[in-house]
Amino acid sequence: MTPRLRVQPADAAGSGMTSQRVRDRLVQRLREAGIVDENVLNAIRTVPRHLFVDEALATRAYEDTALPIGHSQTISQPWVVARMTEVLLAGRAPRTVLEVGTGSGYQAAILASLGLDVYTVERIGDLLRLARKRLRLLGLNVRSKHDDGRVGWPEHGPYDAIMVTAAAPALVHDLIDQLAPGGCLVAPVGGASSQALVQLTKDADGHVQQTTLAPVMFVPLLSGTLD
Ligand code: SAH
Repeated sequence: MTPRLRVQPADAAGSGMTSQRVRDRLVQRLREAGIVDENVLNAIRTVPRHLFVDEALATRAYEDTALPIGHSQTISQPWVVARMTEVLLAGRAPRTVLEVGTGSGYQAAILASLGLDVYTVERIGDLLRLARKRLRLLGLNVRSKHDDGRVGWPEHGPYDAIMVTAAAPALVHDLIDQLAPGGCLVAPVGGASSQALVQLTKDADGHVQQTTLAPVMFVPLLSGTLD
């Protein structure tokens, strides 16, 4: 599958520390760290992560690390982005996905480049405006909303897949309700000191099953909105 990036802005190709060679090195590293889905690896290779961080951090964009994006928030570590995406796709062909926590827009870009219809919700207006600009620049069609994502986005649900990119002490019921039968949700669960990536699947009868996947560290899922 060829990732869908309709537009390639002039600086998307990158150079030096943002060049294709450096991105290929990141992909190799993710492979070594257990990521196996070739479509996901290809999306990581193709989506210019350096356009999702401040210019001052662009040279670090292809390190396998989370980076600050302002407002005490971070763009997730590439391995985490790849793993969560891989989990949502494994053995399924989701068409729609809801993301809670747009942040930089990078995870949304990865999902959209894989051909999913992406709905994303962010509580910090400043971050959302920047993310929208980046996604537009890349020609990626992502629907987004400035809101407290803990209530999901029921108008467009139920979703084949749901991804939460901020940690809460427990899975959020409103989000589980918006997951379609046969769907899969991934979310970090825990507090400031310890979190795990949790996968929840819903079968055709609506029964849910939960599996713990890996230790992770995310910023907290907070309530309300900020401009
Ligand atoms: N997926 C992002 C990672 C962002 S970090 C990326 O690819 O860059 C988590 C994001 O979740 C932050 O931007 C934070 O503001 C947002 N967030 C936290 N609680 C939220 C909530 N209740 N609703 C929506 N977004 C929330």
